[in-house]
Amino acid sequence: MVATEEHATAKIAVWWDMKACPIPKGYDAGRVRPSLEAEFEEVGYTGPVSITAYGDQTQTPGHILQGLIYSGVSVAHTRSESTNYLMYRDIVEWRGQNPPPATMMIISDEVQGVFDWDLLRLQQRTPYNLFLAYSDKPEVAIVLSTSEEWCWGSILYTEGSILYTEECEPVVVQGAKLYCKSCNFDCQSVKKFKKHLSSYEHVREEVVNPTYDKVVCVTERWARNYKATPEFATAKIQVWWDMMSCPIPEGYDARQVRPSLEAAFKELGYSGPVSITAYNDHNHTPLQALSSTGVDVFHVVPGFTYMYSDVNNWHYDNPPQSAAIMMVISDFVESISHGLVCLLQENNYNLFLAYSSRPSKMSFLLTSAEWLWESLLLAGSQKRLLLHKCSSESESSEPTATTLYCKLCHFDTKSIDIFRTHLSTDEEHAKEETRLLASRSSSVDERRYRVAEYDRQHLPEVKNYRKTKRMKKT
Ligand SMILES: [Zn+2]
Ligand SMILES: [Zn+2]
Repeated sequence: MVATEEHATAKIAVWWDMKACPIPKGYDAGRVRPSLEAEFEEVGYTGPVSITAYGDQTQTPGHILQGLIYSGVSVAHTRSESTNYLMYRDIVEWRGQNPPPATMMIISDEVQGVFDWDLLRLQQRTPYNLFLAYSDKPEVAIVLSTSEEWCWGSILYTEGSILYTEECEPVVVQGAKLYCKSCNFDCQSVKKFKKHLSSYEHVREEVVNPTYDKVVCVTERWARNYKATPEFATAKIQVWWDMMSCPIPEGYDARQVRPSLEAAFKELGYSGPVSITAYNDHNHTPLQALSSTGVDVFHVVPGFTYMYSDVNNWHYDNPPQSAAIMMVISDFVESISHGLVCLLQENNYNLFLAYSSRPSKMSFLLTSAEWLWESLLLAGSQKRLLLHKCSSESESSEPTATTLYCKLCHFDTKSIDIFRTHLSTDEEHAKEETRLLASRSSSVDERRYRVAEYDRQHLPEVKNYRKTKRMKKT
């Protein structure tokens, strides 16, 4: 991907795990920086580069330390067990001090599974341009949106070797330093650094006061609901409502759905225009009530909502830079979460969620607001009834302003009568419905549906993504 104008000259910070991606035997450490810079330049990034190499530096030969510091690469000593924790802490701190546009590069084999859950959530709120490098390409694609990914071995150029000897004191460039993360010690001399690492005080410090081993997820305790920022206060809100997992409660007036949603949005300061699309088998839903309140109606069969294709179409109509809000009402948001998380990282969109039961694990999807479906409906309708009795709407089958759409046949109409006739008597429609229901068990949607349902029932507290939970110092 070619650099955007704003990123082309913005700063680039590199965090490098030297254990996962070591300097090859016999390779001149002084070549690492120029190799990276050449690689960045090749894809159009020419901003100032800062690099920090993490690892147990008691294992690193002096000439390598010399080559790194001389070429302006900072070196951080960490206990091996703490490298991820310290590297990630530095990344988070750097993000706090360096607002975008800027580029982050992480050289590590543990982005997937260790950093990704939290970093993904950070990126949805404040996106940075992201580069990755790893020694082995991960088997499962990383859901973090990156503009470049490299294999470590392919980055390092070999021509034009520059050699430094341990005897010559380095000419330290660009404020590069040698840090001991265990003792909060830093210096610019390799001799001093090596002396520190072999000192009694250093060894004692690592034993009596070891640094954390586990990455601390800073977004774990973020709130679920936020007041609207000025940019999003009047942004348009598109709601995709899976009525199969989040139905209209027994005895609830379907005409109250829209006002209840709007009331809940207003309470948080969101007052932009709201569009709602309701997915269901619409043979037995209150079509009149829904369409009279401007809810678009999409007929689907269970396991085949094709909701994501509509999300994508919506995305094409909403430019990346303009603020917009997506809301998914469903117990199966996980089935489209990979698509959503890409949109949230790459566009100026926010996400609202509603579900009939709270998911057992915190998603990597970052939301600006979340609700329990039934309480959202009830809270809104009580408020509305206090304000004014709702007008009695006509029950006639007049054409409506909303769209009634059969996703099975790509058939749309504005007339409830014609829609009902299509659903109940159209032969091609009946054939398609039979075909889909027969293929349900083998469909991808249906599989995801069942996997998500199984996880909801069986997964204990956030197993997958919170293995990075904070551990207390012992
Ligand atoms: Zn130390
Ligand atoms: Zn149809």
